[in-house]
Parts: sequence; C-alpha cells; structure tokens
Amino acid sequence: MIYMLEDEEGIRNFVIYALKSSGFEAEGFETPSALREAMDRELPELLLLDRMLPEEDGLTVLKKLRSAPATGKLPVIMLTAKGTELDKVEGLDSGADDYIAKPFGTLELISRIKALLRRTSDAPPGAERLELGGICVYPSKHEVFADGEKVVLTLKEYDLLLMLMRHRGEVFSRESLLREIWGYDFAGESRTVDVHIRTLRHKLGNCGDMIETIRGVGYKAGDESID
Ligand code: CA
Repeated sequence: MIYMLEDEEGIRNFVIYALKSSGFEAEGFETPSALREAMDRELPELLLLDRMLPEEDGLTVLKKLRSAPATGKLPVIMLTAKGTELDKVEGLDSGADDYIAKPFGTLELISRIKALLRRTSDAPPGAERLELGGICVYPSKHEVFADGEKVVLTLKEYDLLLMLMRHRGEVFSRESLLREIWGYDFAGESRTVDVHIRTLRHKLGNCGDMIETIRGVGYKAGDESID
C-alpha cells in the first residue's frame, strides 16, 4: 500500500490512478490529519509526501514521522514544486529517502518508487522473524501479523509480545515484565501488565491464546506443545 499526501486534487488523482494502473494499492489524502488517521489504521509501505500543504508543511510532517518508532523508517519520497538545490538538500536532510520535483512524469515517479521499495524491502540477510502459532513478528520492521493479518499494536504491547516471543516457554513474573518494559521496579503497578496483556490478546484475535497466564506467577508465550 502506498499513501500519498497531496492537497492538489488533480495531481493526487492522477498519481493514484497511475499507481493503481501499475499494480500498486494506493490511497491519497488531502491533509496531514487525514493521513495520520489512516496511518493509525494501517501503515503504508511507502509515502509520497507533498511539500506545500495545508495545516503544516511536508517537512514538519516528515519530522514527526521520523521521530515516531512505528514510522521512523517508513520510506518517503518528497514531491515539490520548489525544485531548487536548497529545497532538495533540506528535504533529504529532514529524512526523506528520495526527492522528486514537480512537474514529474509518472514513469519516473514509478521507477523511483520501485527503486526505493527494492532498497528498503530487501530484508538484510538473517533478518529476524519470530513465529509462534499464527503469530509472526518482524522486529526489524516492527510488524506483527496474526493469522496473516497485520496487527497494529501500541509500543508497550509490541514490546511485551516481543519479549515473550523471544523467550518462548519461559515464564515471566509481572514484576520482571514491568521492570524490563516499563523500567519500574516496584510491584504496586503490576496491574498495568495485566491490562496490556488483555489488549494484546484481544488484538491478536484467535492467536491471543498463545499468551498464557501462569496462575500466581505471570505470563509466557506458549511453547511448541500448544502450537
Ligand atoms: Ca501542495
């Protein structure tokens, strides 16, 4: 899925149409807030980001994306009418992966998109992949799938899941999870762990059972015997 944030409807429709014709799934957004709403539901594989926008400019949008863990490494191509050398440097400095000046041809755009996706989606050799039952976690991409469906987790839910899956079969007390994941060192807050485990299980749907409660002790991610 490719997202495009571009306030000019004509350009947006044209590019989305070109992307779809080339076999990509694509969705366009007019404002940063509409994009953020969509990002909360599903992260794209790549973002085409216009520079001049309502609400806030593209560079600000980009800086915010780069500072959030889930979108820190999202491939981004900046689009702009201001194709001067200075703008280009500014865009790349602020974390864009590539930069295209308007007006651009769709053939060029699509070949740049493909090149960037190739650069970023080639998992480095030995990229970690953790599997348990129907749950699959790709730590390098911060992605979680349950029964093949992408699952969107909060940072703490994700950290909990990763911790349990990296040590499958091992039982963790609430206190040790609090210490490792929240950095607290006191038992009074252990309910926090229960609350997060509950939402995590819920989001994992049918795969939620893989996280077992060990009565009186804590939690573990199921071992082979229940796969
Ligand atoms: Ca614009």
